[in-house]
Amino acid sequence: MERATADIWYETRKVGDDVTYICEPFIQEFYRCNIWHVRGRDKDMLVDSGMGVVSLREQVPLVTERSLEAVASHTHFDHIGCHHEFEHRTVHRCEAELLAEPTRANTLADPYVTDEIFTRLPPPPYSSTEYAVKKAPATRIVEDGDVVDLGDRHFTVIHTPGHSPGGIALYEKATGILFSGDIVYDGPLIEDTYHSDMGDYIASMTRLLDLPVRLVHGGHFPSFSGERYRSLIRDWLTAHDA
Ligand SMILES: [Zn+2]
Ligand SMILES: [Zn+2]
Repeated sequence: MERATADIWYETRKVGDDVTYICEPFIQEFYRCNIWHVRGRDKDMLVDSGMGVVSLREQVPLVTERSLEAVASHTHFDHIGCHHEFEHRTVHRCEAELLAEPTRANTLADPYVTDEIFTRLPPPPYSSTEYAVKKAPATRIVEDGDVVDLGDRHFTVIHTPGHSPGGIALYEKATGILFSGDIVYDGPLIEDTYHSDMGDYIASMTRLLDLPVRLVHGGHFPSFSGERYRSLIRDWLTAHDA
C-alpha cells in the first residue's frame, strides 16, 4: 500500500463556535477518530488526539499556538495517540491507569490495527504490527461534574461509562455543544469491547437524553443536531429494551 507523507496526514476545518475539526483522512472512516480543537480566551482545549502515527504538534500549528488542555474522551488507541506530545493531559479517573500504561491490548490496538484500516499507510517507520500508543500519564484526573475552564468558556465533564469505563462527554451549556466521544455518534456504536458494560451504557444513554444539546461533535462520523441526537438515543434505547 502507498504511504502518505507527514505533511498531508492531517486535515483541518473550522466548524463554527471557534471549534476546529482535525482528522486523519487516510484512516478508514469507521476507525478515524474526530479530533476537536476549541479556542478559549485564556487557553485552548483539545478533545482527543488521533492515532499518534504522525506528530500533531509538528503538522498542525493550531495546537501549539496557545496553552492547551488535551482531554481524552476515553483511552482507545484512536483517541489518545498524540497525548504524549502535550504538557497538560486530562482523563477520567477510571481510565487514568490506561493513559499511563497503555498496551496494544488495553487500548484495542490489538485487534483493530492492521494495514486494512488505512487507505494510505502512515509515513515510515510505521508498522501496524508494532504500532503502540506512547505513555502519557495524566496531569489532571477528572470526575463527573468537573469543569474544563477556558476563561470565557466552560465545559462540564459528564461521565458516560458503557463503551469504556472512563468515557466522558464535555458539555458547554452556553452554546449547547456536546463533545460526546464514543458513547454516541451518528454511526455504528461499539458496545462489546473487553471493558464495555451494557448496564452502564443504558444508564449513560438515559442520562444523556435529558441534556438540552444543540450540536454534537462525536468521536467518529459527522456532527449532528440536537434533534438527531435525541432520536439516535431514543432509537438505541428502544433497540436495547431500555
Ligand atoms: Zn472507543
Ligand atoms: Zn473511537
